[in-house]
Amino acid sequence: MTVNAKSDAGAHTWRDLPAAQQPDYPDSKALRDVIAELESYPPLVFAGECDQLKDRLAAVARGEAFVLQGGDCAEAFDGVSAEHIRNKLKTLLQMGAVLTYAGSVPVVKVGRIAGQYSKPRSKPTETRDGVTLPTYRGDSVNGFDFTPEARTPDPDRLKRMYQASASTLNLVRAFTTGGYADLRQVHAWNQDFVRSSPSGQRYEALAREIDRALNFMNACGVDPEEFKIVEFFSSHEALLLDYEGAMTRTDSRSGKLYDVSGHMVWVGERTRQLDGAHIEFVSRVQNPVGVKLGPGTTPEEALTLIDRIDPDREPGRLTFITRMGADKVRDKLPTLVEKVTASGAQVAWVCDPMHGNTFEAASGHKTRRFDDVLDEVKGFFEVHKELGTHPGGIHVELTGDDVTECVGGGHEIFVDDLHQRYETACDPRLNRSQSLDLAFLVAEMYRDQ
Ligand code: PEP
Ligand code: MN
Repeated sequence: MTVNAKSDAGAHTWRDLPAAQQPDYPDSKALRDVIAELESYPPLVFAGECDQLKDRLAAVARGEAFVLQGGDCAEAFDGVSAEHIRNKLKTLLQMGAVLTYAGSVPVVKVGRIAGQYSKPRSKPTETRDGVTLPTYRGDSVNGFDFTPEARTPDPDRLKRMYQASASTLNLVRAFTTGGYADLRQVHAWNQDFVRSSPSGQRYEALAREIDRALNFMNACGVDPEEFKIVEFFSSHEALLLDYEGAMTRTDSRSGKLYDVSGHMVWVGERTRQLDGAHIEFVSRVQNPVGVKLGPGTTPEEALTLIDRIDPDREPGRLTFITRMGADKVRDKLPTLVEKVTASGAQVAWVCDPMHGNTFEAASGHKTRRFDDVLDEVKGFFEVHKELGTHPGGIHVELTGDDVTECVGGGHEIFVDDLHQRYETACDPRLNRSQSLDLAFLVAEMYRDQ
């Protein structure tokens, strides 16, 4: 990897194409200065790590592994604390342990973390009491407060996104390789509020079984290195092309472009226009790429996306993250899967059961029902079972904190509880016990498929 190389501007073919959902910066000189500075910053991830994730996702595409991708809808700069990061990681590690042990499948762990700071929005402006301001587009663009100062897009925030991503990734790397993620810590991940919840208790029983299995292997003289560290990857939506472009570098080994802001990047439902800049961007970089597919996706669009992003039909290169909604998944998904499979492409199919199931509660909170989330995953498994294809994973919005943003779950949250700890800057997330509930239920589905 060329550490300090300026990105190869000639290769930035996406710059000439229309890019949806980009901020309107008032000062283009300030933006150019920030981009030049970002171009000189060291990479956050290495090309070889991106290739490794692609290998792992190839196993998913072949039906040999399952992806767990999760994290905040929108990370926030003030969420970059040891406590928040550790709690999120604990949630993902616990879910990973449940899926691996109860589902008997290797689990590829990918966070929506260390870069998930930018949000596409359905409206460019927001009006309150007759005052209209630009909408909040994530901490990488503007502030959440409803003031003209906060809401004006500020390119300096791109540098803060880099710094927040770097410090988050640094701690994630320390946690996952420095002993905290050692399987013998399987009980330690279950401490605090979650321990007394029904899913926390169920987890405790599973952790005891894992402990016994580890003791057995230890007594047999087996103590593999794989149990001491966890392979964990970062991902985010590649939304702001000024930032992603500045973080795109030529790998000195292969001479190819990599987006070194994260291991995997995805294109969202609102920016996946076939003639747009985002699809052009991901088609040029070597990272494993995700594309969200909503209920309006036609099989022709899916096939064109494959031709654009994965012309060599390389397993692991392309992940389709479907987000149909619980009421549509059984209708809309089969044709897509059928046509894509018939084309010979080997994509990984991942279910995002969050974004098709959002509604506004009477209190005004944007929320999701745990039962709808679960039902979409069930529908996803049913469709793949029917077609003989592989349900490759789940993509969820979650947090390790004890928030009240989604309703339902084993430790039930009611609509009237939503105000208690509603902290998301964007979409509602599963809290840790809801996430664990989901992991147990998905592990059962996986085993029974
Ligand atoms: C998201 O993942 O937060 C998101 C905006 O998703 P989608 O593009 O599927 O709406
Ligand atoms: Mn979201």
